[in-house]
Amino acid sequence: MRTLIINGTVVTAEGSARADVLVEGETIALVGPDLPGSGVSAEATIDAAGRWVVPGGIDVHTHMELPLGGTVASDTFETGTRAAAFGGTTTIIDFAAQQRGGSLRAGLEASLAQAEGRAVVDYGLHVMVADVNDAALAEMDALVAEGVPSFKLFTAYPATVMSDDGAIYRAMRRTAANGGLILMHAENGPAIDAVVAENIALGRTDPVWHGRSRLAIFEGEATNRVVRLAEAAGVPVYIVHLSSRDALDEVRAARRRGTPVWAETCPQYLFLSLDDLDRPEFEGAKFVCSPPLRPRDHQADLWAGLAAGDLQLVATDHCPFDFRGQKELGRGDFRRIPNGLPGVEDRVDLVHFGGVVGGRFGPERWVDLVATTPAKLFGLYPRKGTIAPGSDADLLVFDPARRRTISAASHHMNVDYSCYEGLEIQGTADIVMSRGTVLVRDGTWVGPAGHGRFLRRAPATYARGDRS
Ligand SMILES: [Zn+2]
Repeated sequence: MRTLIINGTVVTAEGSARADVLVEGETIALVGPDLPGSGVSAEATIDAAGRWVVPGGIDVHTHMELPLGGTVASDTFETGTRAAAFGGTTTIIDFAAQQRGGSLRAGLEASLAQAEGRAVVDYGLHVMVADVNDAALAEMDALVAEGVPSFKLFTAYPATVMSDDGAIYRAMRRTAANGGLILMHAENGPAIDAVVAENIALGRTDPVWHGRSRLAIFEGEATNRVVRLAEAAGVPVYIVHLSSRDALDEVRAARRRGTPVWAETCPQYLFLSLDDLDRPEFEGAKFVCSPPLRPRDHQADLWAGLAAGDLQLVATDHCPFDFRGQKELGRGDFRRIPNGLPGVEDRVDLVHFGGVVGGRFGPERWVDLVATTPAKLFGLYPRKGTIAPGSDADLLVFDPARRRTISAASHHMNVDYSCYEGLEIQGTADIVMSRGTVLVRDGTWVGPAGHGRFLRRAPATYARGDRS
C-alpha cells in the first residue's frame, strides 16, 4: 500500500518546507517537492493543502491502568492509546512497576500482558524501581540489552517507592556501565510528609492543602540532590514532571556547568495552577497530582524554559481517575485523593496552542518538544520523531487554524472530567497515521483494533552526548 500526502508543509524540528511525502507500507519512502510531478504515484492520496505534515507525537510519561491509592487509573492501554491517537500522539512510553520484594522482570511482564493486543499505538515501557538491590541492579543490565533502557526512581513516597540517596547513586552507577538512563521523581518526600502532618493536625484537609504541603522548595532541593548524585556517578539524569521555577533553576544551573541533565514538564504545569486546586465543592480534587500545581507565576518560567532549551520536552504524566467514585475517595482528607490527571489526548494541541499560537516559539520547536527530542532521548530516533525516508510513517496532517473546545463531553479518555473544560484552542490534527495506517480522520476513529506494537528501544546514547 502506497499513500501520497501532497500539498502540505512538512514541519520537522530542523525546519519547514512545502513537500510531499510518499508512504510505502509502514514507513516513509520519499520526501520531496511535487512528487506527482516527478512521476510518483500511489493507491491513496491525502491532500494536505493549507496544513502541516508533522511527526506523530511521542508521550514518554503515561500510566495506563496503574493501581494507586486503592484504585486503578481509569484508562486502559486500549482506551488510553485510542485517546492519545485522537490527540495526535502515536507513541507512548508507559511505566512497568517493580513491586517491593519482586523482580523488575515480573513488573515488566505484567505491563506487557496488559498492553499486548490492546494498545492501538506503539508503546515502550520504562521500569519503576521500588527496591534497589543486587538482583535488581543485575536485571537492569539485561533489560537495557532487551530494549527497556530507562528506570524511574523516587525521592518521594517514603512509605512505598522512595529510594534513599545511596540506592539512587548505586542505580546511577549501574547505568554508567550498562547504557541505561535514570529518571527521577524529584520531590523531598520525608519533608513533604512532615508538612502534611502539620496541616492535617490543623484540620486542613481540603484538596488545596495537597498543593500547599508539597512545597516547590522541596522539588528544588530534591532536583539539586539527584543532579549532584548524577554528577558524582558520572552519568546523565532525566527529571520527570518538572513543575516549578525552583526545580528549573537547578536544571538550568546544572546544564550551565556541563552536566547532561534533561527535564520534561507537563501541560498541567503550563496551563493550570494552585488556584484550580482551590476550587470549591471539592472540585479541586480533579487537579490533585504530584508534584502539585504551582502558583500561577511559575508558568511563565516554564514556558521560557521550553523556549530556551532548559526544558527539552513535554510529556503528560497521564494518570486519570474519575471524579465520581475515585477522586471522591479523598473527601475530608486530601491524602486519600488518588494522585493524577488525564492529559494524553490534549498535549500536542495544548503545546501548539500555548507555544506556537501564543508566540513563544515556532512550529519547529513545538515538533521538537512533543516528538523529536522524546524520540532521541528514549532510543527511538530516527525510527520515530521525524519525517525522513526509512522512518516509521507516524504522521499528522495538522490544521494550525482549526479551533476546537476541549470538553469531557467530546474527549476520548475514559474519565468523567477534563482539566481544560471549556478551553477553546487553535490547531489540531485532521488525520493521524501510525506506521502507514490512518487511525483517525476528521475526528472519527477509522483504525484497526490492537494496532500498537511494543517498541524495543536503544540505549541512552543521545542523553550522554550532544545537549543542544
Ligand atoms: Zn508519573
